[in-house]
Amino acid sequence: MAGEPVVLVVEDEPAQREVLAYNIRAEGFDVLTAAAGDEALETVRETPPDVIVLDWMLPHVSGIEVCRQLKMGTDTSKIPIIMLSARSEETDKVRGLETGADDYVTKPYSVAELLARLRTQLRRVRPSTVGERLDYEDISVDLTEHRVYRSDEELHLGPTEFRLLTAFMERPGRVWSREQLLDRVWGRDIYVDSRTVDVHVGRLRKALKAGEAGDPIRTVRGAGYALG
Ligand code: CA
Repeated sequence: MAGEPVVLVVEDEPAQREVLAYNIRAEGFDVLTAAAGDEALETVRETPPDVIVLDWMLPHVSGIEVCRQLKMGTDTSKIPIIMLSARSEETDKVRGLETGADDYVTKPYSVAELLARLRTQLRRVRPSTVGERLDYEDISVDLTEHRVYRSDEELHLGPTEFRLLTAFMERPGRVWSREQLLDRVWGRDIYVDSRTVDVHVGRLRKALKAGEAGDPIRTVRGAGYALG
């Protein structure tokens, strides 16, 4: 998905849901909300978020059950989940983590603390959206200054090649299909032929001096491309 990270807030108390959504939006993230467990599961199916903030006590389907189902799903198991709970007993916390929650925050919590936990989870799944620098072997990307270095020499990339490299560097080893790269680099609403991806990967390789310094991008036959 191109653009900002998407955070799903699942909380049945309207006031708490609004406060959370407001503060997370103020951080520059996109926010989806759900007021119940079944609604949360439906939202995740329609629009997979990057991170989920999930209240434990929810009507119909509990937060624990939502967490369990998502962590069992092949498409959803890697989405980080931060559980919120009014319960503070250690056993509940253990139960929450056993269900597969990635982090656990006890109510009442400070919004600042929750945002810090959120950034920690996002750093795992979308490093470039919260970090300032990405490194892979001898390649470094400074996201604040939009500069790229290889073995300390500054390289000059076009804007598309820069976005392409950033996507690769966020998840070294991940195999991206051409369609996934189109969504991520060009955006979902723009029609671009998938061969365009090949053209820009070629330009990126050239900009990275793949011929002299070694080609960090792997062509995966029948699948797409990967860094490393
Ligand atoms: Ca609740």
